[in-house]
Amino acid sequence: MEQNTATVKTALVIGGGIAGPVTAMALQKAGIDATVYEAYEKTADGVGGGMSLAPNGVDALDAIDCADLIRPLGAPMTGIVLQDWKGRPLAEFGNPPGIRPMQFVWRDELYRVLHDEAARRGVRTEHGKRLVRAEETADGVTAHFADGTQAIADILIGCDGIRSTVRSLIDPVAPGPQYAGLISFGARVRAPGIPSTEGKMPMTFGKKAFFGYQVFGADDAVWFVNLPHPEPMTAAEVQATPAAEWLPILAEKFAADDTPARDLIERTDLSDVVIVGPMENMPPTTVTWSQGRIVLVGDAVHAPSSSSGQGASLSIESAIQLARCLRDLPYAEAFAAYEAERRPRVERVIKETTRKNASKAAGPVGRVVNAYAIRIFGKLGKPEKMTWIFDYRIDWDAKVTG
Ligand SMILES: Cc1cc2nc3c(=O)[nH]c(=O)nc-3n(C[C@H](O)[C@H](O)[C@H](O)COP(=O)(O)OP(=O)(O)OC[C@H]3O[C@@H](n4cnc5c(N)ncnc54)[C@H](O)[C@@H]3O)c2cc1C
Repeated sequence: MEQNTATVKTALVIGGGIAGPVTAMALQKAGIDATVYEAYEKTADGVGGGMSLAPNGVDALDAIDCADLIRPLGAPMTGIVLQDWKGRPLAEFGNPPGIRPMQFVWRDELYRVLHDEAARRGVRTEHGKRLVRAEETADGVTAHFADGTQAIADILIGCDGIRSTVRSLIDPVAPGPQYAGLISFGARVRAPGIPSTEGKMPMTFGKKAFFGYQVFGADDAVWFVNLPHPEPMTAAEVQATPAAEWLPILAEKFAADDTPARDLIERTDLSDVVIVGPMENMPPTTVTWSQGRIVLVGDAVHAPSSSSGQGASLSIESAIQLARCLRDLPYAEAFAAYEAERRPRVERVIKETTRKNASKAAGPVGRVVNAYAIRIFGKLGKPEKMTWIFDYRIDWDAKVTG
């Protein structure tokens, strides 16, 4: 089943984040030669803080024989405990019965494992290649990069994330990210000074900001802050203030709370802080998933709220399903089959998992810990209702018939 019977033989994969290397490896398994073009000069070593990886994303990687490389990473997340500024529990939600827990992973470690494996399999990745334009001919597509170079292949796949250039090329009026009223920070803490949270991640609606943390052991913990900030800020504007200035500002926001937030922030080494930038909302999916020889995968086409814990996993699923479709069908039919398979699922997952950033951005605790937030999280608190999201398998060998 690994022979490419369709007309596509070569692909340009734009973006070397999560979807990029997975798409390229899946295409390789489908018999299609793919090269990844990444805008940044360097790999993502040391970049990006922590993230949760859902079991559906990890299991999807079984289809391309990668899952066992990812499963040992990080630490299990067995539940999320919502609490108020005094540390009083408001709600708790755990894993659906019979489903493996979410995994907490360091983002750069996940990237490194995926990229190393792609390289080991012979997938080429070219760094410093920022796509600026693409043009189609009768028998191919040409990518033009900011450094003046070009590349040609049968199809072009946009895995270039939430600010996708490829999306704007195929749909210039597609809405982009909207500022959600919060700026976001994350950090690793090497000496947290408080006991392990035993696989759980407490999340606090503080008096002035939202705080989440998980303590893995005596020498490792992670925290993140979502800070309400009504005026929109770009990532560059947030990052213009160094961590040394942000940390005391963040610590002060939790001074009146009765949680470990302030202490954990004060124990954080400046070099372990990630100034993420603005939190952004996207529409559930982009209207145009493909045009001609160009198609979108991952955040470029479906970017859930960053607090959904599904962005990476949906990207992985889509990457592999697109490769299956291209293995079995000519590209136009393959793109249509891919969209038909993916769109209902991603739209439903996004709808079910998107926590309303508005409840975190609302301000003082009287408005933050409100009935609305509890209703949202209360819904998530019924784990069995979420089973369908996590219990998703890709049957790689099943033929796609269009
Ligand atoms: C604060 C925050 C927290 C998050 N937490 C989680 C979480 O806990 N769990 C989870 O599953 N998801 C989380 N996400 C979402 C997750 O990071 C994304 O869903 C995932 O990274 C999408 O993968 P991707 O490959 O589509 O895009 P990306 O990982 O963004 O990769 C896109 C790549 O394309 C490159 N690129 C961009 N433009 C061009 C161009 N013109 N030419 C060439 N290359 C280009 C970029 O440099 C980048 O390397 C979070 C997101 C944020 C912002």
